[in-house]
Amino acid sequence: MPPLHFQSLATLAARLERRELSAVELMQALLARTCTVEPRVHAFNSYDEADALAQASASDARRAAGQARGPLDGIPVGLKDVIAVRDQPLTASSKILSNFVSPYDATVTRKLQDAGAVLFGRLNCDEFAMGSSNENSAFGPVANPWDLTRVPGGSSGGSAAALAAGEVVASLGSDTGGSIRQPAALCGLVGLKPTYGLVSRYGLVAYASSLDQIGPFGRTVEDAAILLGAIAGHDELDSTSYHATVPDYRAALSGPAPRRLGIPKEYFGAGLDPGIGAAVEAAVKFYRDRGCEVKEVSLPHTSYCLDAYYVIATAEASSNLARFDGVRYGHRSKAATDAIDLYAKSRAEGFGAEVKRRIILGTYVLSSGYYDAYYLRAQKVRTLIRRDFLRAFEEVDALLTPTSPAPAFKLGEKADPLALYLCDIYTIGVNLAGLPAISVPCGFTNSGLPIGLQLIGQPFKEADLLALAHDYEQAHDWHTRHPNL
Ligand code: GLN
Repeated sequence: MPPLHFQSLATLAARLERRELSAVELMQALLARTCTVEPRVHAFNSYDEADALAQASASDARRAAGQARGPLDGIPVGLKDVIAVRDQPLTASSKILSNFVSPYDATVTRKLQDAGAVLFGRLNCDEFAMGSSNENSAFGPVANPWDLTRVPGGSSGGSAAALAAGEVVASLGSDTGGSIRQPAALCGLVGLKPTYGLVSRYGLVAYASSLDQIGPFGRTVEDAAILLGAIAGHDELDSTSYHATVPDYRAALSGPAPRRLGIPKEYFGAGLDPGIGAAVEAAVKFYRDRGCEVKEVSLPHTSYCLDAYYVIATAEASSNLARFDGVRYGHRSKAATDAIDLYAKSRAEGFGAEVKRRIILGTYVLSSGYYDAYYLRAQKVRTLIRRDFLRAFEEVDALLTPTSPAPAFKLGEKADPLALYLCDIYTIGVNLAGLPAISVPCGFTNSGLPIGLQLIGQPFKEADLLALAHDYEQAHDWHTRHPNL
C-alpha cells in the first residue's frame, strides 16, 4: 500500500467508510505533506488550514451519525483558482483579482459540498487560464513533482502538481484548449475534459465561454469517474448547460467498452517526440490485442485548429475580460486622473503580458473591418473541424492520440509564445468540436517523465471513454508510480 498521500480516492473512500481512518486524520496527513513539499512545488495560491479541518470534522460528525453522503464525503479536493468558493479568494492567478474574495459558490463547488467533499486550497494556474506551462501565473510558476526543474503543464498546473505531489486526493481544473489533459499527461495523472455543456460553468471565471469546461483530475480512471459523476448535470444557472440524466460513470467502468477505434493520421506527424510516439503505438497494440478493431482515420482540417482556436479564444477573452475595469472588481490604480484613465491604468497594472497580448489580438479580430476576415472565418473553420470528427465517428467509436507532442519541458525553456501555443496541437480540436476526451498515463520517457494517451469520444459518451481508459489502466501499472519527493 502506498503512503496515505498517494492513495486513490476510491481506496481512501473505502477506508473512511470502514472507519479505519477519519476525515480529520486524512486532512491532517495532507496538511503535513503540504508543509513538506509545497515550498518546492508551489501548487497552491492559498489554503485555509482551519477551514479544511472544520470541513473534515463536519464530515466525521455526519459519518458518526450514519449520514455519510457517499464516496466523496471527507475527501480533500483542490480547486483551480478560477472556480468560485464563497468567502474564499478567487484570483485566477492574476494581479487584477489579487484582493478579490468570491461572494458566491460555483455550481461545481456546491455539488462537491453536497457530496461531502472537503474543499482544500486555491490551486495555482496560468493567469485567467491562458497558457500551457503555468509560467503565466502572477504568483509564480509551479514545479513538476517528477522533476522540479520542469513545468507541470498548464493552464491547470497547480491542480495537476498538487495531486502528483500528494497534497490533495483529487482536483478540478478547467479546459479551454487542453488545460486539464496536457498537465495530466505531463504529471502522470488522469484528466478528463467533459463534453461542452455536461458540467455547469456557473462560477467559473470565463476565459473563452464557447470552449471552457470544468473537469476532474484523478490518480486513476475510477477517481475521475467518481468526481465527474458528482459535478455533471443540468444547471439552470448556465444557459449552455445540457439537459441530460447523468449516468453512473463508476458503474460504467466495468461495462462494455467501445471496440471500434480510430487513429487520426494527422496526430502522428512531425513534431511528435519519438518516445511519446512509441508509447502511444504500444497502447494501440494493447487495444488491438484485446480484439478492438483499429483503423486509421483522417481529420483533414487539423492543421487549421491552432489558427481557429487563437482567433476564437482571444476574441471571447477580450469580451469576457472587459469586465475587469478597476471599478467593480479587483485592482484599482491609484495613479488615475479621470474615469478613462482609471480603466486604462487599472488594466495596464493588473493584467500580465500574455493576457494583454490576447486581449489586443482578440479586440483586433473582432474589430470592424476585420471581423469577417478573422472571426467569422475562424467560426466557419470551426464547423469544418467539428464535421471532421463527426465524420470519423461514423466509422469508429473513439479516437486514440498522444495528449501532448512533448513531455514536460524545462521552466523558462519556451520563451516564444508561439512555441507554447504549439503544446496544444493535439488537444484544442476537441474543444473546438465540443467533444469529451480523457488523458491517461501510458508510460515514461527514457528520462523518467510521464506520457499521456488521449482518448477522444462522441458527445456525451464520457462513460465509453472511461470504460476504455479503465480497461487500459487495469492492464498497466503506470498509475501506481509516484514522484520521489
Ligand atoms: N494553452 C491554451 C491557451 O493558452 C489552453 C488553455 C486552456 O485550456 N485553458 O489558450
